[in-house]
Amino acid sequence: MTTDQLEPMPDDWQRALAIVAHPDDLEYGCASAIATWTDAGREVAYVIATRGEAGIDTLEPATCGPVREREERASAAVVGVSSVEFLDHQDGVIEYGVALRKDIAAAIRRHRPELVITLNPDDTWGGTYWNTPDHRAVGRAVLDAAGDAGNRWIFPDTDAEPWNGVRWVAVAGTDSPTHAVDVTDGLERGVRSLMEHRAYIEALTDESPETYVRDLIEGFARQTAERFGGRPAVTFRLFTK
Ligand SMILES: [Zn+2]
Repeated sequence: MTTDQLEPMPDDWQRALAIVAHPDDLEYGCASAIATWTDAGREVAYVIATRGEAGIDTLEPATCGPVREREERASAAVVGVSSVEFLDHQDGVIEYGVALRKDIAAAIRRHRPELVITLNPDDTWGGTYWNTPDHRAVGRAVLDAAGDAGNRWIFPDTDAEPWNGVRWVAVAGTDSPTHAVDVTDGLERGVRSLMEHRAYIEALTDESPETYVRDLIEGFARQTAERFGGRPAVTFRLFTK
């Protein structure tokens, strides 16, 4: 594995919008970086394509959706994020296409971010685990919609005006990161943010939720440290617009 050092993420921005498929997608690592950013006075908002209603085997979707929505809002609050919107695509069967791009472009136009954040749209996680169709669809649509949002001839009927101010799209969880954020100060809140997904985690593992979450989040950050001057970090692949 390479030990080439990663670049620090740009910090000359004020507003970020994180757009992912499911409640919990941002909490598996990214939230520690978000805590660090909101501490520094930056605004971060979340847009989630589904309510994660197909995510818990033992809960019917109609019951599960509201539970997961509450958990996501609580997770966001832990890292200083108060704006959480849901696009109400159907969990598990999100379709990549013009409808999804339009919903995401409309969200970017409403929020006017300089930095857009999303999750790994590649086929796999680390070449080992097959990625889900929802992550592939949403990640790709976010990268596409960051451009669509600025073109007034594409999706001309959204409520908000075109927004051509996206400077970067940062993709979390990829095999080929280029940048990182030091999360020394945000890591503990990153742990607590994922712990808010209690119903989801209790259905997922027999371990105590705290042990599961702490091992995972601290493990990711430690793994990354060797490529970022020994500091615990969250990595991104940064696309400059
Ligand atoms: Zn997910």
